[in-house]
Amino acid sequence: MKPKDRLAIPRQKAPELSVNYRIKNFDEVTRGYDEKTAILEANRCLQCKKPTCRQGCPINNNIPGFIEHLRNGRFEEGYWTIRETSSLPAVCSRVCPHEFQCEGSCIRGKKGDAVAIGMLERFLVDWMVSNQKNLAVPCVLPKDKKVAIIGSGPAGMTTAYHLAHEGYHCTIFESLPVFGGMLAVGIPPYRLPRDIINAEFDSLKNCGVTVVNNFKIGKNLTLEQLKDEKGFAAVFVSVGAHNSRKLGIEGEDLAGVTHGVDYLRNVCLGEKINLGSKVVVVGGGNVAIDVARTALRTGSKDVFILYRRTRKEMPASMAEIHHLEEEGVHIEFLAAPVKIHGENGKVARVECQRMTLGECDASGRCRPVVIEGSNFMIEADAIIPAISQKVDHTADSNLKIELTSWGTYVVDPLTLQTSVPWIFSGGDSVLGPQTAAKAVYQGKVAAESIKLYLEGKDLKEGRNVRILS
Ligand SMILES: Cc1cc2nc3c(=O)[nH]c(=O)nc-3n(C[C@H](O)[C@H](O)[C@H](O)COP(=O)(O)OP(=O)(O)OC[C@H]3O[C@@H](n4cnc5c(N)ncnc54)[C@H](O)[C@@H]3O)c2cc1C
Repeated sequence: MKPKDRLAIPRQKAPELSVNYRIKNFDEVTRGYDEKTAILEANRCLQCKKPTCRQGCPINNNIPGFIEHLRNGRFEEGYWTIRETSSLPAVCSRVCPHEFQCEGSCIRGKKGDAVAIGMLERFLVDWMVSNQKNLAVPCVLPKDKKVAIIGSGPAGMTTAYHLAHEGYHCTIFESLPVFGGMLAVGIPPYRLPRDIINAEFDSLKNCGVTVVNNFKIGKNLTLEQLKDEKGFAAVFVSVGAHNSRKLGIEGEDLAGVTHGVDYLRNVCLGEKINLGSKVVVVGGGNVAIDVARTALRTGSKDVFILYRRTRKEMPASMAEIHHLEEEGVHIEFLAAPVKIHGENGKVARVECQRMTLGECDASGRCRPVVIEGSNFMIEADAIIPAISQKVDHTADSNLKIELTSWGTYVVDPLTLQTSVPWIFSGGDSVLGPQTAAKAVYQGKVAAESIKLYLEGKDLKEGRNVRILS
């Protein structure tokens, strides 16, 4: 096919559940491509000599490589090309913010629509599953050294995956009843079905990884006890960022105020929560959007998002914003809460101020500035602030690990070793709230470092690691 013909093919839209059907349940909204559509979309790829899409991918997936296999009908080879670099393609293909990563760097996106790289990756994974192909990489006979992994999110899962395939015995300790970190208790099932996460844990267990739930390190056992009493030679701390940041305004302690990740965690763990009819969510990222869409699915009728900048600055992906608005959520731009008013100890309304955009920083992101005298009220049964999260330090409460001013762990950027040599860290606990793909990448880097550490080798020699921020 000539480049001109490839350029003439429009981006293929993925099928989606209808709005009326989907807001009553947690079924996956975006469905996969069929074979014909996937091959057509793959034919849009120009196979650039310098594939900028690869640079945009935090895990450096060989995107042109798997697309070339896909369009020639070599689906298994395409899948295994992805698995050379990614331990969790079923997850990443669904939840990565592709427009800011691989697709955001695709040359075709400069003058039109980028190649739908995420959907093509998803097609290959789903094809392997529906055709019952083997997805497992052979395990290696166990070595005598043990590694403890604290937290079962994508960073911990990836470290366990790589170390287990090197023959190290890994135990994942998870404080919650379910495994998967924010994939299981943050991202709702309508974006990431739970059988996908569970399948990853089945394959980890098949390779000898021990998984322990309802076990909080720092409470049930300390990090030092893991080393000194339980014989773990190294520890990977991948505890994520699960503590909500507060708005810091009057009325935040009223009944009816629940913070975003707490609300999503409770819903994901099966608690029946009805927030009431009118819900105001504060924030502009993925968490705010997932809260708003979840509130609709648990019975709320009028759901608002308050965001202090404009649509252009929203950190959430366009696809998420589109789905949100389709489902009937209203976004009030350039508005921020200043006080929550209550009646009888319960939220009644939120007082807001209008904002305008002021000075912009080097990245072009502009500072919201209050318009004096612009206060207005919104009636509400519940307020859900979803403005960011910080790291819960229960795990290292008895140990002095160096932290940044943001409360994340200080690590060597090349090795992810903390200030305590036998402890490594990665994912959101190092980067702050970020993405699944970055957690996967750091999980892989940490596994390489831990292996070198256990073998008594130099952790830095010859390493070529991408430094993520
Ligand atoms: C609502 C929401 C939506 C998101 N949407 C997206 C998206 O669309 N795309 C994307 O790429 N990313 C998204 N993210 C971010 C992504 O989920 C995270 O960046 C990623 O999960 C971080 O992985 P992690 O392994 O570092 O930590 P986590 O996934 O947070 O896992 C950490 C685990 O450690 C456990 N833990 C904590 N302390 C202890 C302890 N002391 N002992 C034992 N266990 C402990 C926690 O319970 C948790 O299970 C979203 C996040 C949220 C909250």
